[in-house]
Amino acid sequence: MLNLALRRLRRNFQLSIITLMGMFGASSITPYAIYRIYTGDYTVAIANSVAIFSTIIAVVYAWRTDNTVKPGLYLSVIFSATAVIATAHLGINGFFWVYPLILFNFFMVSPTRALILMLAVLSCIVVYHLLNPENVFPSHYQMISFLVTCLLASFLTFIFAYRTQHQRERLQQMASQDPLTGAYNRRIMTEELRKAVRDNNRSQRTYSLLIMDLDHFKLINDSFGHLAGDHVLIDFVRIIQATIRESDYLFRHGGEEFALLLPDTGFPGVNIVADTLQKQTHNKLYSPAGAVSVSIGGAVLKPKENWQDWLNRADEQLYLAKQAGRNCYRIADTHPAPSTS
Ligand code: GH3
Ligand code: MG
Ligand code: MG
Repeated sequence: MLNLALRRLRRNFQLSIITLMGMFGASSITPYAIYRIYTGDYTVAIANSVAIFSTIIAVVYAWRTDNTVKPGLYLSVIFSATAVIATAHLGINGFFWVYPLILFNFFMVSPTRALILMLAVLSCIVVYHLLNPENVFPSHYQMISFLVTCLLASFLTFIFAYRTQHQRERLQQMASQDPLTGAYNRRIMTEELRKAVRDNNRSQRTYSLLIMDLDHFKLINDSFGHLAGDHVLIDFVRIIQATIRESDYLFRHGGEEFALLLPDTGFPGVNIVADTLQKQTHNKLYSPAGAVSVSIGGAVLKPKENWQDWLNRADEQLYLAKQAGRNCYRIADTHPAPSTS
């Protein structure tokens, strides 16, 4: 149980941030909430209590649903509102909380959303000060110093968070895509096949898998060089991507072999897709030597089957397609007429 929780925290960065920041936020506010009840400042005590309970609810929600976007935004809004209320009621003792709030918001939501939230928080505090002079800040000069330092901290954090987000996206892309063709790599393929099997066990959603291997590809490399071969691979992926649905996943399985995961596709859909892809390739894919063809093997995921057996069944069909003379497809457990257009 503990191991499972730790594995989820390691795998899901956003979940670990929400858990850590949520717990840190709730535990640091709790003593103040108790103190405010003790001193009779019930407005701040209620605001603090709402923040604490909201945090617990948001963390539980994130753990149960794996959705970290909604609880992140929810927590940011609640904590921002708490900081405004604390500042309005406690003056200088409250506005110190605005500085950690800047970091908190940038951890919880996207940089743009965090910046908008911070501008909203600062606007509320300034408007409150202008309507109730000397309640929060003893002078306009102090209010301006507070505003300028908070704006500076917010913009610097925005730049840092924006750069980090961009770098993280780049890293994720590099870790998941084949640099030559842009198709997903083998690591993602294994992950997605596992997910498909889990989903099929749980919801009986249908999944099909196609393995596509270019015919006589070695000849292209040997006759026209590796670069010509690379261009054919790039064009092949472009043709496939233009044909498949957005929900389908294309992976580079290795060399000139690609796998295509088709959610919500069983018989006869898988045959139709294989037929279309094989024909599209033969009609549109060219090397300096002329038209290039593809052989395709496919299998529909069986109930209780593991992903390796599923992949092997599709692979066996590819082998049969090659044996049948190439430029055709074979799907496990069905006997479509071999297409050789
Ligand atoms: P078959 O019709 O039986 O599939 O024959 P084939 O020539 O396509 O099969 P084979 O597996 O013998 O050849 C695959 C070739 O793909 C060999 C390898 O050099 C080449 N290859 C693998 N990766 C790349 C790559 O990234 N770029 C290029 N240009 N060639 C690659
Ligand atoms: Mg080949
Ligand atoms: Mg091959």
